Amino acid sequence: MSEKMKYTVLFGGTFNPVHCGHIQVALEILRYECVDEILFVPAGTPPWKAADNNLASADDRWQMVALALDGCPGMGLTDLELVRDGYSYTLDTVRVLRDAWPQKNFCFLLGMDAMAGIRFWYGFEELLSLIPFWVMTRPDTPPGILEQVLPEYTVSGDRFFCSGRAEVRRVSVSPLMVSATMIRERIGKGQAVTGLVPEAVADYIRDRGLYIHV
Ligand code: ATP
Repeated sequence: MSEKMKYTVLFGGTFNPVHCGHIQVALEILRYECVDEILFVPAGTPPWKAADNNLASADDRWQMVALALDGCPGMGLTDLELVRDGYSYTLDTVRVLRDAWPQKNFCFLLGMDAMAGIRFWYGFEELLSLIPFWVMTRPDTPPGILEQVLPEYTVSGDRFFCSGRAEVRRVSVSPLMVSATMIRERIGKGQAVTGLVPEAVADYIRDRGLYIHV
């Protein structure tokens, strides 16, 4: 496979905060022969989450991802969605990245839970035509849900095809049973998050007093 064909995997999420589950799956995906690099894309503040006291600021979330990725070769992050005013749509982000790096071959990585809501995403049909999606299963995700979400696709094993659209792939990873919700809840209750977030992230959360109110 030529360098040109290798994927730059865009890993989108709120990362509120980034945790060891995110890093674990990124490390697994990075081992794929066809993957060149992983770019974390922390989401801006969505309007529907702006009132949520437990959503750390865009800057804090970016800093935590930067700390988590320090010393992880092949992983980077972009502040593209954070520097834009308001919430930015994945469709816009993908367009900008493709224009900025026409030589790169992008795909978009997300969990099945996030994929379940794809039809509510702005311009989802165009988005699914622009870029392959890789959908990770999580331990709490019921089987068969991707088939329900994409009824117009033809399924061949873990690959989903539809005319005029890029391929959607189901990727099986061995994710840790950890979520950002769990981290925030534990901190709110004064419980330790050792081993659930990278140490530097735990220090940052403590120093900044993040998530102490549930
Ligand atoms: P929250 O609990 O607040 O919903 P989260 O832990 O799912 O957050 P996100 O920032 O929303 O974190 O996650 C970004 C992406 O990573 C999503 O597509 C999500 O499905 C996926 N993801 C999160 N945690 C894991 C995990 N432990 N294993 C595999 N994928 C995960």
